[in-house]
Formats: sequence, structure tokens, C-alpha cells
Amino acid sequence: MAHKTRRIQVGSVAVGGGAPVSVQSMCNTDTRDVAATLGQIRDLAEAGCEIVRCAVPDREAAEALRAIRAACPIPLIADIHFDYQLALIALDAGVDGLRINPGNIGERWKVREVVKACAERAVPIRIGVNGGSLEKELLEKYGHATAEAMVESALGHVRILEDLGFDRIKISLKASDIRRTVEAYRQLAACCDYPLHIGITEAGTTWSGTIKSAVGLGTLLYDGIGDTLRVSLTGDPVEEVRVGWEILKSLELRERGPVFVSCPTCGRCQIDLIPIAEEVERRLHDLPKKITVAVMGCVVNGPGEAREADVGIAGGKGQGLLFRHGEVVRKVPEAELAEALIEEARRLAEEE
Ligand code: SF4
Repeated sequence: MAHKTRRIQVGSVAVGGGAPVSVQSMCNTDTRDVAATLGQIRDLAEAGCEIVRCAVPDREAAEALRAIRAACPIPLIADIHFDYQLALIALDAGVDGLRINPGNIGERWKVREVVKACAERAVPIRIGVNGGSLEKELLEKYGHATAEAMVESALGHVRILEDLGFDRIKISLKASDIRRTVEAYRQLAACCDYPLHIGITEAGTTWSGTIKSAVGLGTLLYDGIGDTLRVSLTGDPVEEVRVGWEILKSLELRERGPVFVSCPTCGRCQIDLIPIAEEVERRLHDLPKKITVAVMGCVVNGPGEAREADVGIAGGKGQGLLFRHGEVVRKVPEAELAEALIEEARRLAEEE
């Protein structure tokens, strides 16, 4: 059963309270370079990014947020460590959310200033606990950064905000290993109803990070935990967005573009299927409609899968059958199979 959370608003995007799980990413450009950052944000938005975050390491970066916000097509979050003045500049620049840990800001009056500015603008704060930077006292108490220590850290930050009457809160608890992350989120979900931003931090390169994120986030989402997600990859952040969407699509939590089905091939396959499947996926990935596209190697499982899909092919000897909504459209020579399937999928998308 889904973990029930309260809803907050990050600009135009609702997070929690049954809202669709949103896909986030973070720019890896220098925030002070407004043109480069906006260019990346546009690429991210086109790939389906719904909320974007920028690092704010100094005053110049905080001031650049004004120009970025003015042209940013999606809600913008400022990621700030320690410095309350940077948070105030970012809020003044019009950001839609802050990621800052109140326990790291310092004196109470500084936290109060930030919370007051957030409350006036209805801007939420994400508390982002990272297993790699836990408070010294908690490391001493628990021996190392355990799931319990991460949860205690998050609740400590939450209490600071609640004591100031602020509850537009979102929480993340990221560790670089799946077991600890999943355990921490489960424990936190059992004891609070703030919306949860989920992710496996420092997950790795596009290949290994995709697998880790799919396993970790998939486990949480299958349990109904998670209101917004970020896949962290050492690579192009656009890939983070694509992976995030594929995770949500595979659990049928969101829909975006086509769903691909293809067989692994085996000794029964009599066409060169792998390049066909790759070409079909590459050329159809930006199709705006949810259409199931099947690429199957032979007549054993092929026609069944191809029939159940909206469009599909099932290979034979040097040729294949093209299906649409379970009906055979025609026989197609092997060399034309990819093109025929792509055309049929595009036609169907236009008609529907
Ligand atoms: Fe093998 Fe046919 Fe199954 Fe593909 S669909 S894996 S070719 S049996």
C-alpha cells in the first residue's frame, strides 16, 4: 500500500499526497554560466525533467539564479550548504524550492531568517541527509552512518523547522548503497508523512548507476515509498531523466512515450534481430504516445507478444510479419522490417 504523505508544491509541480511521482535532475554546469545552465535545463526539460536543481556554491551563483529562473521552463531548486545568505539571495531570485539542512546553517536567527523568507513565498525546503556527511555526534552514537543514524539526523533537521512553525518540508535520505538507503527510507516512512525525495546517491556511471538506481528506487516505489525521484549518474544528467522515467514506466506509475518489448533472441531466430530492435528503440523513443512496440525473433513466442503489443514484428526466415492491434498487416522482407515497424508505430500514434 502506498505510503501516505502530505502534499507540497514545488512551483507548479505537486509533490506528495498522491501526486504523480515526479522526475528530477541536477545541472552539472557552472551555475554562474547562465547560458550553459539554461541550455542544459532545456535539454533536461525536453527529456522529461519536471524539477531541476542547481548548485549554489557562492554569491555569484546565487545571483545568477535570477536570470536562470526568468527563463527556466520548469521549477528550479537552489542547492545550498551552510550559508543562509545564499539561501536568501536564491529566494529573492525567485527559486521554487531550497535544498538546505537547517541544522547546518548555524545560529538560530539565521535559520529563522531563511524559514521566514520561505514561508512568505510558499517555498518548500528539502532536508537532504547524505550518509557521507552525517553529524559527528550521530556517528559516535551509532558507530557509523547506519539507516537509524540517517533517520535520526533527518528528524533532527525536521524538528528545527517544525519549532519555527514551518512544515513545507520534503526529505531525502541518500546513501551510496541500496540496502542502507532502502532501510532508511522504510524507517522514515513509518514515522512521518512528509513527502519523500528518493535516490541512490553517487550510484556510479551510467551503466552501473542505472542498475543500482533501478533496483533501489524500484524496491522503494514498489512498496509505495517515494513522491519524487532523482537518479544520480556520473554522466550526462539527461540520462538521469531517461532512466528515472523508465523506472516509473516499468512499474506502471507514470506513462511517457512508447513501451518496448523485444526478445533476447536464441537459436530459433532467423533474422538479424538485435540491430532492428536497437534501431526501432532509438528512432521511436521520442514518440509522444504510450504505444507498446514489440520486436520478436520467431514464431514460437513472437506472434503472441507481437499481437498483444499495439504494433510489432515477429521474424521468420529472411522476413517477418508486421502486426497491428493483434492483426497481421503484411509480410515484410527482413531488410525493411525496422522501417515498416517504425512507420506503423508513427501512423498509429498520429491516429490515436
Ligand atoms: Fe528465441 Fe523466438 Fe523467443 Fe526470440 S521469440 S527468444 S527467437 S524463441
